[in-house]
Amino acid sequence: MTYPDTLLFIAGEWLPAQDGRSLPVIDPATEEEIGRVAHAGAADLDAALAAARAAFPIWAATGAFDRYKLMRKAAELLRGRADLIAAMMTAEQGKPLAQSKMEVLAGADTIDWFAEEARRTYGQVIPPRQGGITQITIKQPVGPVAAFTPWNFPINQVVRKLAAALASGCSIIVKGPEETPASPAELIRCFADAGLPAGVANLVYGDPAEVSSYLIPHPVIRKVSFTGSTPVGKQLSALAGAHMKRATMELGGHAPVLVFDDADVDSAIALMATHKFRNAGQVCVSPTRFLVQQGIADRFIEGFTEAARAIKVGPGIDPQSEMGPLANERRIPALQRLIEDAVVRGAQLTTGGQRIGNRGWFFEPTVLTDVPAEAAIMNEEPFGPVAIINRFASTDDALAEANRLPFGLASYAFTRSAATAHRLEQEIRAGMLSMNHLGLALPETPFGGLGDSGMGTEGGSEAIEAYLETRFVTRMD
Ligand code: NAD
Repeated sequence: MTYPDTLLFIAGEWLPAQDGRSLPVIDPATEEEIGRVAHAGAADLDAALAAARAAFPIWAATGAFDRYKLMRKAAELLRGRADLIAAMMTAEQGKPLAQSKMEVLAGADTIDWFAEEARRTYGQVIPPRQGGITQITIKQPVGPVAAFTPWNFPINQVVRKLAAALASGCSIIVKGPEETPASPAELIRCFADAGLPAGVANLVYGDPAEVSSYLIPHPVIRKVSFTGSTPVGKQLSALAGAHMKRATMELGGHAPVLVFDDADVDSAIALMATHKFRNAGQVCVSPTRFLVQQGIADRFIEGFTEAARAIKVGPGIDPQSEMGPLANERRIPALQRLIEDAVVRGAQLTTGGQRIGNRGWFFEPTVLTDVPAEAAIMNEEPFGPVAIINRFASTDDALAEANRLPFGLASYAFTRSAATAHRLEQEIRAGMLSMNHLGLALPETPFGGLGDSGMGTEGGSEAIEAYLETRFVTRMD
């Protein structure tokens, strides 16, 4: 498949870069160029900033009900185009078509959720200390937003920021993922076609570091939102802090999965093997460190290894494929380094560990067991199809290992004991905990991390707050 070149969207128009620069987009299953994406320079960024500045007061003054109606229309357009957009996403990102389509449809649900939230940005009336005084708070949009989104979920990562910004009355400049540009551009097109005023949403691609170092300090930008790795997130939040800009950071994770002797082991294996290898493990909430209680560890390792071996790896357009290629060539050496290091330090490789073939960035579903804590993979996010399975004796040991790393994004647990479940609820240091089932990442539930996994939430009723400022007014009548 090839597709038309992806352009910048600035002030309501689809434009090439002013200096004509563009980058190739590569299909990770074939390593062939499928199109090009415009590469913004400073002049394009200036145009996007001017557009976002001019559109902000217009959009902020648009009634919440009108914002809601426009967003619901965009969501319907997105649903109607799901097949077309999913095909583009699979071509540029590699994931199986069914997963791409699910992502597009979930994107529409996220737009609906935030559209409804637009109508609920309530302030408060605060009881005064004396008569004749009225104390109120009002919520107002923070201002133009700069959002930076990665390639693993080309639509989902944009839509959480875009929909929250638009619902609250902010204008936005999205720096989309250069590797996977066309599907997020189609998302923006749905808003344009739904009637979003020119300049409210702008989309650019370019050199990520150049764009962020230009936009974040710029006086027009009042809010920064980034999804990506922890080291980059730290740099960008430091830059935002230096200019006193609000920042939401969705960063890396290293999710522990605690499986206790009393769990439904077969269900844990089935759920977690599917979840681990979804999107080839390139997921910030991907289950990574399996901590399995001694009594069931051998059975779990055997079952999980079998499930990993059974995963059908192939091009995302093939309906038989359950796992596509890695999205970027650079993930292959990164994974090989982590796996080799673990094995050298004494880990057992029960399946996988190698690139598949030499065309397309396919990698085997991989299981490492009994991995020592000092191995790099026990400390760095693998961001690929690798599961680590280690054993534990007591709940104290499991909790100590689960909480050992500075990350705290997702966590998972399987137990039939209410007492154990209660303890985990209180003591696992992670922004999200899913027990005995998979229940993360719905629009209406919080989505965010603690510690090195970032700050803020991009789901649930608190998410829109990141785009609103609370002002207090007291008045004597
Ligand atoms: P990377 O750190 O080079 O880039 C990660 C993302 O950040 C990319 O989208 C990139 O365009 C962007 N980025 C990098 N430098 C930037 C800058 N100075 N300003 C603005 N944006 C910048 O890593 P990568 O090889 O693309 O991905 C691998 C790592 O990134 C993984 O190990 C994972 O930790 C992290 N990652 C996390 C998520 C997530 O969902 N939280 C998504 C993608 C990547």
